[in-house]
Amino acid sequence: MDKTIIDGHCDVLDKLVHHSHLDFYVENDELDSGYARLRRGGVKVQLMAIYIPERSIRPSMRDVLQYVDTFRRKVLKAGVTEQVSTKAELKAVLAGDRLGTILTLEGVDALAGDLLNLRTCWYLGVRAVGITWNYGNWAADGVLEPRKGGFSLRGRKLIEECDRLGMILDVSHLSETGFWELAERSARPFIASHSNAKALCPHPRNLTDPQIEHMIRSGGLIGITFVPYFVKSEPPVRTADILRHIDRIASLGGVRSIAFGSDFDGIEQWVQGLENAGKYETIAEELYKHYKPDDAALFLQGNWTRFLSENLPD
Ligand SMILES: [Zn+2]
Repeated sequence: MDKTIIDGHCDVLDKLVHHSHLDFYVENDELDSGYARLRRGGVKVQLMAIYIPERSIRPSMRDVLQYVDTFRRKVLKAGVTEQVSTKAELKAVLAGDRLGTILTLEGVDALAGDLLNLRTCWYLGVRAVGITWNYGNWAADGVLEPRKGGFSLRGRKLIEECDRLGMILDVSHLSETGFWELAERSARPFIASHSNAKALCPHPRNLTDPQIEHMIRSGGLIGITFVPYFVKSEPPVRTADILRHIDRIASLGGVRSIAFGSDFDGIEQWVQGLENAGKYETIAEELYKHYKPDDAALFLQGNWTRFLSENLPD
């Protein structure tokens, strides 16, 4: 029973940037996805978000660089934790004992409309870009922006540049109008790194069945997330409730599009029994009880492995 995990979204960098006393390598209750807990839970590769929008009135590239600096100084450790930014690095990490980490950007606000900043992120190893957080920015509208718009002209240029670079686009937080516009404008598969099925839990951050079906058809990936109120409208929320979202996506034909994106360290409430990355084994065990072993392994890491092997650069 392979309980290896690849997780598509966590906010541990946000905590490390803003709370200088926190140490990624010293286990403590303030970090859901610190090193020890990731390893105990079986996480082999963790996508780590650079998240800026909500904190800063005028976010800039300096904020992004601060996250990259913290990532390099506090998270990367030769022989222990490695940055993954190419197919070969992914392969090497999967074959060895080290923890792999992939930088992602959540919301392009800090790029300030300048594609030079996007390319700089690419040079620094950022491999996925969430276009918005919940509100509107220079590129597009998020799910809670009242005007419910799609992409701006500059936002369309961002899509083109991401396609040219091979930057993976992430639609978690993007408005539905933006989602369909991206579906039309980009020929590449995209991800929803941390979103669930709206048919089961009608939160604006979740995806409708037609959105899920599009992602399945186009080879995209949906990271089932452990934010309790994206799993179920009313507490208590248990791991069995997470399985309902997997069943829903599977019933739409999405066995090869189901993955995980916990949102650990970005949440202040947890699913019962899934309070930190160290508890990932709980969900792994449930998956092996409920699904064919091959499918369970796809959900835990196989779909991420395939998607990243196809979409990371050489
Ligand atoms: Zn988020």
